[in-house]
Amino acid sequence: MGGVYSVELEGAVVECSLRGKLKRGGMAAAVGDQVEVEQLEDGSCRIEAVLPRSSEFSRLAAERRREQLIAANVDQVAVVVAARAPPPDFAMLDRLLVLAELNDLPAFIVLNKIDLAAQVSGGGEAPDDSPDESDAILKMYESLGYPVVRTCAKSDFGVSDLAELLSGRTTVFAGASGVGKSSLVNALLPGLDLRVGKVGERSGRGRHTTVSARLIPLPGGGYLADTPGIQFVGVGGVGPIDLAHAFPEFRPLLDACRFSNCQHLDEPGCALKEAVERGDLDGRRFDSYLALAREPQRP
Ligand code: GDP
Ligand code: ZN
Repeated sequence: MGGVYSVELEGAVVECSLRGKLKRGGMAAAVGDQVEVEQLEDGSCRIEAVLPRSSEFSRLAAERRREQLIAANVDQVAVVVAARAPPPDFAMLDRLLVLAELNDLPAFIVLNKIDLAAQVSGGGEAPDDSPDESDAILKMYESLGYPVVRTCAKSDFGVSDLAELLSGRTTVFAGASGVGKSSLVNALLPGLDLRVGKVGERSGRGRHTTVSARLIPLPGGGYLADTPGIQFVGVGGVGPIDLAHAFPEFRPLLDACRFSNCQHLDEPGCALKEAVERGDLDGRRFDSYLALAREPQRP
């Protein structure tokens, strides 16, 4: 049996199977999809058709040619990082921002646990873990055009600002585990348990299934698409041209490399590398590019 899909139907949530023909045609429904559902004679419901999507958020494995759909009809990506505990993982942040760019989706950053940033630690922390250092790095992201909203899920600080950014849109809610995503969802949905919305796919059968992805309706309209594991989605297979374009600050420099087919790895006359050496490009972002460009393709 394939997966079970939770479908929001006239305000209620019904569990549906997926018509075999859709599965075989590679047209599995994804979180965020709008679907046509039919009630079968035995009373069970089945997804008969997936309606055209306004956007697709997928991992792109260009050379494998098959995109893997993560969510459908997504408007934007929110990447949650914690000010501390755990310290921001900027390599992961860059991976998620690149995924958003590759999918032509706007992205913003949620800096949660802002209450911990203000606490002065007893010293001895690695510079990477220092909230001051993190704050400077986040300002750099703001200068690149990624808005940063600061929140504290515990005190509700900034939660209304976040709610405003989410209102009326479908947002992929991504980030490392422990940064406070569930706490933010609960802060956004006061008095409500986590609910399963429009299309949430469950992997496997029976009761002890893990929810692989779900869509959470927001009181102000819009949905949060909670897609566990998205932070590990690979970009292997995306060519250097697309990958370099996924770093917005690289774009103005991309015609200036000595070789028109420069992969910005170790070619002489690479304009990106020279800009890093001059201090015009952030070296950490360039390192993220190098790490992603060298990433092996994953199945
Ligand atoms: P998730 O794995 O991203 O869903 O993170 P959780 O929501 O489960 O939160 C992980 C831990 O961080 C929990 O112990 C939360 O109570 C705590 N936490 C979440 N948000 C905040 C915050 O804004 N400030 C502080 N101090 N702790 C928080
Ligand atoms: Zn180059």
